Amino acid sequence: MARTILSEKMDERTPLIATVHVAPPRRRYQHNILRRFCTIALGSSLIALVVLFLLPVALLPGHRHHTPHPVGPPHHQNALTFNELQTILLETPKEEKAQEWSKYYTAGPHLAGKNYSQVTWTQERWQEFGIKADIVAYDVYINYPLGHRLALYEKKKGKSADDADTWKVKFEASLEEDVLEEDETTQLENRVPTFHGYSASGNVTAPYVYVNYGTYQDFEDLIKANISLEGKIAVAKYGGIFRGLKVKRAQDLGMVGTVIFTDPGDDGDETEENGVELYPEGPARNPSSVQRGSTQFLSVAPGDPTTPGYPSKPGVPRQPVDGAIPSIPSIPISYVDAIPILTALNGIGPSPKSFNKYWQRNLGLKYKGVEYNVGPSPDNLVLNLVNEQEYVTTPLWDVIGVINGTLADEVIVIGNHRDAWIAGGAGDPNSGSAALNEVIRSFGVALSKGWKPLRTIVFASWDGEEYGLIGSTEWVEEYLPWLTHANVAYVNVDVATVGPHFKASASPLLNKVLYEVVELVQSPNQTIAGQTVGDLWDKEISTMGSGSDFTAFQDFAGIPSIDFGFGPAAEAPGDTGGAVYHYHSNYDSFYWMNTYGDPGFHYHATVAKLWALFTARLAEAPVIPLNATDYAIALDGYISGVESKVDALIAGITSETDVDEARFRPTTPAPKGSVHDLKLSFKKLHKAARRLRKAAEAHDAWAAELAEEAGEDLPWWKWLSKLKLIFNIRKVNNKYKFLERKFLHQEGLDGRPWFKHVVFAPGLWTGYAGAVFPGLVEAIDAKDYGNAAKWVGIIEGRLWDAVGSLK
Ligand SMILES: [Zn+2]
Repeated sequence: MARTILSEKMDERTPLIATVHVAPPRRRYQHNILRRFCTIALGSSLIALVVLFLLPVALLPGHRHHTPHPVGPPHHQNALTFNELQTILLETPKEEKAQEWSKYYTAGPHLAGKNYSQVTWTQERWQEFGIKADIVAYDVYINYPLGHRLALYEKKKGKSADDADTWKVKFEASLEEDVLEEDETTQLENRVPTFHGYSASGNVTAPYVYVNYGTYQDFEDLIKANISLEGKIAVAKYGGIFRGLKVKRAQDLGMVGTVIFTDPGDDGDETEENGVELYPEGPARNPSSVQRGSTQFLSVAPGDPTTPGYPSKPGVPRQPVDGAIPSIPSIPISYVDAIPILTALNGIGPSPKSFNKYWQRNLGLKYKGVEYNVGPSPDNLVLNLVNEQEYVTTPLWDVIGVINGTLADEVIVIGNHRDAWIAGGAGDPNSGSAALNEVIRSFGVALSKGWKPLRTIVFASWDGEEYGLIGSTEWVEEYLPWLTHANVAYVNVDVATVGPHFKASASPLLNKVLYEVVELVQSPNQTIAGQTVGDLWDKEISTMGSGSDFTAFQDFAGIPSIDFGFGPAAEAPGDTGGAVYHYHSNYDSFYWMNTYGDPGFHYHATVAKLWALFTARLAEAPVIPLNATDYAIALDGYISGVESKVDALIAGITSETDVDEARFRPTTPAPKGSVHDLKLSFKKLHKAARRLRKAAEAHDAWAAELAEEAGEDLPWWKWLSKLKLIFNIRKVNNKYKFLERKFLHQEGLDGRPWFKHVVFAPGLWTGYAGAVFPGLVEAIDAKDYGNAAKWVGIIEGRLWDAVGSLK
């Protein structure tokens, strides 16, 4: 029965299985004939048993394929031992090659849907490396910049407002990043203008208000201070929450436009104010740098906003975009452009001192004379904001490569996005693209030596990530039945490196593999000879939020996912120094990367090695190396975390973190339901988590036993033991494969049904950062304890389902 379902699914939905070529039957090995003889010779009482065992064998190596040893350590099935494969994957990735790929990708603009030459180039390289690769296209609703303007107008004294020459331009923002002699990327004629993805077109002229970071509570503070917001333009700093949510809140409050600037105060110690030289002379932020980016309301649903939950194929019905993208115009600006606009508010309206501490942090333009008064600007001082966007439904392209493994229904997917906001993108995403090419080239070398993976490996170069994770989301939505059935894990690298600080976020199922792999790869930092990536890493693995292409896999399809790379040095605790990363700016260029980010491209090569080894372990180990116990332990920890939050509520204590987080969301209304009843219900959650841990430990122990047995070389005449082993490995692997799916709640989270995972989702009010038990925690934050109790029930149900699945 399993096979029928399998073949049906594959025929209809599988992108890759259509290209699976089952090797022609080879000359049978002698003991296969013996096996048949034995089968016939066995008594009828055994037939049922044998059939039971042969069923899984039909799906395993050894039966249809050439290997005489159906399972066992990979070296038994392959021209290469696992150690030989590992050596190839550690020795093939090269700095010079990564540099060459980086140079190519960053040589010209590659906005989503506008990078076809890079699509075919990528496909051709992968094919040269020996990997079959196809282009998968989607028709998506997307915007491209046509024009923009931001000007500060002042009314001449004594003139009436309707007089045409009453208003004069006090300041015209350049909306351009400086062209630098050293940095070729900045000189390109066709460089991408500064704009926001999914921003609304509009031409508005209005007084303006400085709104700090534009968090929910920043706006509330303004309302409390009687600052009139309706009909005004918001001027917000980047940081704290996802940019689209700043625009959303301004829009909800009746404001007519949003300007978002980068404040150097958020660059830590690496500032001009601290005497650090500016890029390109030094590592501090170039004052003209602008952060482009999407303003899609990402925490509600990623992907093409006109096709939520289904793929954007030509001719599919399209939904209205209201509620998914902004309706008021917005533009991003540099701090150079922000200074005159902010200083014009000096002395007007409350100063940061009259608000709370959240208004007094990182005021990085004080030394430039900005007082950060909120305004609003008086009626004789207005901003004219023009944002002209062309909205089209246009193709974008994923490149999908595949190495067919012996097992077609156990698939590892690895991916990186290719599109960038700028011509460069040397860090985001093309350090990842360069590393991906090196991973594929390395697997190609292994293939040329006769290697064939046990599991199928799929490689993805996604398009449209920047606008809203489009290429990956549409692909997952299209192949959901097949991925649900076959996908073991997704391994994402977005930014491979913009500094030397290793960081990772993952489903806890994958923690163990990561801990193993980081010890096998040498760090480019050899201040202590022989130190590995693991030696220099704090071993912190964060929870999965959003912000890159793993989102549809983890949060929508329930596929255990991981994302890793090297971030800026300044992110390491106590670590100062390291260059400021010019995120989504023209200065995320090849020159910046080669001079400050990763001179010599050593970290690029290191990521390629980590990524390849991680993939190889998942693809080759006879027993899938996921760890269920780690997940159960993590879940119990998350439950305790939420419970202590409830305890604190009962005791009336609020922690600093709680207060900080509360800045992002609405003020809590009067409580609904009983917090004490909610507290009692946590017993049930802990009980389920304890049972899950028991089941997980038993499962992992059994898996470890089987892994050991698989490593032993059984003589051919122990074929029955061997069949039993295959059968059991198959069973264990299936349970691992489907464990993460158990945490999906098909109705989805409250108000955002696309997000189906009960454990992980992006924070509703932050946009990127990972939240655990989002349904439950959001209900508690809203003091809706009745709804929280509902979520306790849902989570408990998912936990017991997971327990049942491991039995
Ligand atoms: Zn990216």
